[in-house]
Amino acid sequence: GMALLEVKHARLYYTTTKGIVKAVDDVSFELNEGETLAVVGESGSGKSTLAKLLVRVWERNVSLIDGEIYLDGKEVLHIPEEEFRREIRWKKIAMVPQASMNALNPVIRIGDQMIEPLLLQGTSKDEALKMAMDALESVGLPRDIVSRYPHQLSGGMKQRVIIAMAIMAHPKIVILDEPTSALDVITQANIMNLLKKLKWEYKLSYIFITHDLALASELADSVAIMYAGKMVEIGGAEDIYGNPSHPYTQGLISSAPTLRVDKTLSFIPGEVPSLISPPPGCRFHPRCPFYRDRDYLKGLCDAKEPPMMELESKASRKHLVACWLYK
Ligand code: ATP
Ligand code: SF4
Ligand code: MG
Repeated sequence: GMALLEVKHARLYYTTTKGIVKAVDDVSFELNEGETLAVVGESGSGKSTLAKLLVRVWERNVSLIDGEIYLDGKEVLHIPEEEFRREIRWKKIAMVPQASMNALNPVIRIGDQMIEPLLLQGTSKDEALKMAMDALESVGLPRDIVSRYPHQLSGGMKQRVIIAMAIMAHPKIVILDEPTSALDVITQANIMNLLKKLKWEYKLSYIFITHDLALASELADSVAIMYAGKMVEIGGAEDIYGNPSHPYTQGLISSAPTLRVDKTLSFIPGEVPSLISPPPGCRFHPRCPFYRDRDYLKGLCDAKEPPMMELESKASRKHLVACWLYK
């Protein structure tokens, strides 16, 4: 069937005084109804930028937006902002932004902050308040939280408020950008359980952004691996965890303590390259052990960008990898 969300050749570049940052550079993927897709990669790989592109909330120094985003078959990246705000943002696709629980305005009551986007869409104040209180109840908070101020809430409660905001207009897709990273371990586990419950109750599709492959495995039906502004591997969870194929994915898995089979400490030496002048060819080649060890890859990996290739799959979703080893 048709994918709920289809992203084709998406790009978002930033202008900086040092040059153009190609933060998301030709990314394509699909999300199916009811599916949770984890987007995993190191800091600076472009995960949050991809999320911002999907909900069309980006900083002013953006120099290029390109590609196509289809929601239920309708292209939504290039429709007027007014239409996107009225019909798409929050109602069809909503986001829990990275570190957003710390971005709550300290001098505005929770309820007023929650209903603001609904008022902007033309919902009446009474109706919006009811939607906010219903959502608070769904995330396990009392309805009268609406009259409190952020400083009266714990970190876990604030994160629940942010999640309530994301679901209150009943979107089909919720993007969760590192939703548990600022929380202690117990609160983290509670929030993960809440996300599982909401997914089931509201039949949500999630895009779950994290740098932690082990955490992703708790929720993910599928996994997309990002490296330096590119998606380098995507597939069903059983393929990505059972048969990680991109050398970068293999490195990530072997450096995740709870996923490691052998308990020797392993990590990927080097760091994510500059996205202003990324390495030519495969962006991972300066760190790739295969490139280093195999002569036939010299002059290939460092010169030509590997296309997405399809591998044999155990899952319902295609297993795709961008690496010359599979040509
Ligand atoms: P993290 O795991 O740290 O949240 P991320 O994968 O979400 O990282 P992004 O925040 O999308 O990465 O950033 C991707 C790249 O774009 C980085 O090099 C970052 O420095 C750069 N970047 C992000 N926002 C801007 C901006 N407004 N202006 C210029 N560069 C930016
Ligand atoms: Fe390594 Fe080459 Fe594959 Fe890139 S394309 S991951 S450098 S083998
Ligand atoms: Mg981020």
